This record gives sequence, C-alpha cells and structure tokens, in this order.
Amino acid sequence: MKNNILPKDYPELDFKQMNIVLIEASSRLLGGMSVQSGKEAQQYLEALGVKLQMNTSVNNYDGNSATLSNGTTLYSRCLVWAAGVKGMALKGLPASSVLPNNRIRVDAFNRIPGMANAFAIGDVALMQGEQSPKGHPQVAPVAIQQAALLAKNLENVVSKKKLKAFYYHDKGSMATVGRNLAVVEMGKLKIKGFIAWIIWMFVHLMSIIGIKNKLLILINWTWHYITYDQSLRLIIKPSEKTKKFTNEKVINPAIADGYSMVL
Ligand SMILES: Cc1cc2nc3c(=O)[nH]c(=O)nc-3n(C[C@H](O)[C@H](O)[C@H](O)COP(=O)(O)OP(=O)(O)OC[C@H]3O[C@@H](n4cnc5c(N)ncnc54)[C@H](O)[C@@H]3O)c2cc1C
Repeated sequence: MKNNILPKDYPELDFKQMNIVLIEASSRLLGGMSVQSGKEAQQYLEALGVKLQMNTSVNNYDGNSATLSNGTTLYSRCLVWAAGVKGMALKGLPASSVLPNNRIRVDAFNRIPGMANAFAIGDVALMQGEQSPKGHPQVAPVAIQQAALLAKNLENVVSKKKLKAFYYHDKGSMATVGRNLAVVEMGKLKIKGFIAWIIWMFVHLMSIIGIKNKLLILINWTWHYITYDQSLRLIIKPSEKTKKFTNEKVINPAIADGYSMVL
C-alpha cells in the first residue's frame, strides 16, 4: 500500500513521511508459531520498513493518539486493532462456564458443563485438556474439526451411542508477511520466503468454495501481482486550486504532522 498503491492515488503526498508501527505486547511475533518463524517474520517486516515496538501494549486510543505502556504517546489517526477477538456474552450460561474474553468452557465433547443440551464450538469454545492446557488456537481448522465431530456426536446422542472425544489434528501453521514473504510450519518442517508464500496461497485458494470462485481469485491475485495495483481506484483528482494549495503546504495533516499508521 505504502510503496505502490497510495503514491498512485495521492501523487501530491510524500510517503517517506508515512510510518507504519507495529506494537506487540509480547517479546516476539507469531506467538502461536516457533521462535524461528517469529524471528523470520520480524526480519521480513523490518526489511519492508515497518517499525516494531516489542514488549509494549496499547493502553488507550482516543482517535488521534495511542498511549503506550512504556509511557510514550504515538500520534496516529489510523489504528488497526489486531489483538484478538472477544466472544458475545450470552445470558443464561452458568457463570463458571464463561471465561475471560467471553469464551465458553466446554468438555471434551464440546458440551457446556452444567447444561443438558448446549454445545459450543470454534473460537468461542475453550476446551482445556492434555493436548491443549490453555485451549486450542482460535483458527479455522479447529472450528471445522469441532463442527464435524459435533455433527457426528449429535447423531450419537440421538441413537444413544457413546460420544467421541475431540482430538485436534494440527496440519501446521502458516502466516504471510507480505509479497513473496511467508513462514510455514508442518510438523518438523519449517519453510520460509517465496516457497512458503506459494504454499500459503495454494492452501488458501484450495479452501475457497467452488471452482469458479477459485479461478476468479487466482486471476485477481495474478493480476495484482503483475501490476502492483488494486482494482479500486480513486477517480477524483486534485483541482488546479488544490494543487496550488498543496504546493504551498502539504494538505493531509495525517502526514504533515508526522502522524503514523499503527498496526
Ligand atoms: C483478520 C482475521 C484473520 C484470520 N486468518 C486466519 C487464517 O489465515 N487461518 C485460520 O485458520 N484462521 C484465521 N482466522 C481465525 C478464523 O477466522 C476463526 O478461527 C474461525 O472463523 C472461527 O470460526 P467460528 O465458526 O468459531 O467463528 P466465526 O467464523 O467468527 O463465526 C461466528 C459467527 O457467529 C455470528 N454470531 C456472533 N454472535 C452471534 C449471536 N449472538 N447470534 C447469532 N450469530 C452470532 C458471527 O456473526 C459469525 O458469523 C482469522 C481471523 C481474523 C479475525
């Protein structure tokens, strides 16, 4: 966006003055993956020009500035919150089943303890056991596998058969960091860079439903890759009056005042 897209839409602005800052509360990136993958992701981001502030959390944001745990203030009108999701609090659940972030405690069969016929699956469910002392990661494969098993277990309930306990089949983790950059972990195998990025794209493309959708997305991705562009274009251009004003003073205060984009 900073290097290729925005300069096309806002040729009058100097994007060297735009900062992208990533604030991370822990000491490393990609907490769900290995230390090595976290370090590689960090190197990729730094090479792309992202400024990282580790061991720092965001305490407050008022629309103009973010107050950080290290006592500093970061001025930004663009803040992207990516620090996790919170479940919807439902009335009527036993208080002991509702955990921080409104996750619902479930047993090995996704049943909510204390309720006869209530189940929770996916992100909202927290199943603690030998395999996952802190619960499973909030990712799509866990939700898909729990849904498939629960469907079978509901049939088992109806036919009064024994229920099957959930076991998560972890096929690996992957994260993309940018163009040609990704990290992939499958068992002991760790891949990084361009090959990891191709694997990331292939896996995500295969998860898309329908051949037509797959093809359309593949064409879009290829087009964006070749053109370094997006299809949504600004069709307004600065008027002569604005151009004159812009030459005298940078009009976008988000950049003129040294504001940053915070991730
Ligand atoms: C930005 C982002 C990127 C992600 N990338 C990845 C990734 O690359 N790979 C991966 O594996 N996972 C990824 N995840 C996580 C993944 O999306 C979730 O783990 C997965 O969607 C969980 O599925 P779910 O069915 O439990 O919940 P959801 O998919 O969140 O579905 C819950 C649904 O319930 C609805 N709902 C909520 N409250 C109510 C209510 N009171 N009544 C009725 N409906 C309600 C919601 O609108 C929503 O449609 C990502 C998540 C985010 C936010």
